Amino acid sequence: MTNDPILHAIDTTVGALRSRANAHWVVAFSGGKDSTAALKILLAAYRRSGLQTLNLTVIYCDTGVENPILDLYVKSVLDDLGGELAELGPSFETRILRAPVQDRFFVRIIGRGYPPPTNSFRWCTTGLRIRPVSRFIETQDPKNTVVVLGLRRSESQQRDRTLNGAAEGPWQKQREGNKDYDLFLPILDLSVAEVWDATFWLSKPRSINATMLQDLYRDASGECPVIRAPQSPPCASGRFGCWTCTVVRQDRSAKKLIEAGYSELKPYFEFRSWLSEIRNDPAMRWPKRRNGAAGMGPFTLDARREILERLNQLEAVTRTEILDSEERGTIAGLWRLDHYPRLSFQVF
Ligand code: SF4
Repeated sequence: MTNDPILHAIDTTVGALRSRANAHWVVAFSGGKDSTAALKILLAAYRRSGLQTLNLTVIYCDTGVENPILDLYVKSVLDDLGGELAELGPSFETRILRAPVQDRFFVRIIGRGYPPPTNSFRWCTTGLRIRPVSRFIETQDPKNTVVVLGLRRSESQQRDRTLNGAAEGPWQKQREGNKDYDLFLPILDLSVAEVWDATFWLSKPRSINATMLQDLYRDASGECPVIRAPQSPPCASGRFGCWTCTVVRQDRSAKKLIEAGYSELKPYFEFRSWLSEIRNDPAMRWPKRRNGAAGMGPFTLDARREILERLNQLEAVTRTEILDSEERGTIAGLWRLDHYPRLSFQVF
């Protein structure tokens, strides 16, 4: 028995792999430090386990509004990782998951008039991250699936309560719909410093450049969750996550990246701040909720049109596509349902 926390995490993971050698192991990877450390520990344990093969899929949930700098980094890692895992055998692969079009961030905001998310109305995490992952698991054999998450006990007091309450150790049960599957948390007891140590010390996968990751991280910590854990915070004060995130008061991660020279993030940052400002402007919201209840309702159609116009300008300035044609078509259809009088305007 070793006293080194990282070696201990690897030993525990070796035991876990051997005990479920025939399961489908699914690593929920965001590109952030915690899921990176979880993946590295899992691969180190696999090498040490003596197993000849493993059914392993690394999944990444692409919300379509990921911080562009971080998204570029993660996609390039996944490209390389796909090749590197293939060297281990045909049962190792990477998969990029996407939310169904009606759940995408701007389809909800511009199409249906949802106000940007806040801590008390966080409609985004379920549709953008949790549901794509749970649907993927449902298409597998949940009973024979183990989902590996980079969750840590010390991540937050709130999350501690969730994790401590649910189970003592790294194995937990997760229920989606009427099906249960197993969660395995290899870095449950590691501190932030140990997570970084694991990220730097463990050599595989070599597709991950720990120095670049640390450089990108700057002030960030935490990752938006991909499992349903309602008590847990959506993301910490800065994190790998959506550039549109209005759940955090200030996107410190983006701010730090801009200060570090990633000036291409500035227009996104400004758009997000504007979105946050207009959220509670009564002139931009229906006076009642959609169900007729008292309280500010969805964005008015004119407000949605203005958001779309500004988003079009953002696309022009950044020379990127933020809304694809499927999303624009869905928005046009939703506007028609809300009886937008000027046809579908210039949605496309
Ligand atoms: S990063 Fe923010 S906007 Fe994106 S899913 Fe998480 S809480 Fe929602």
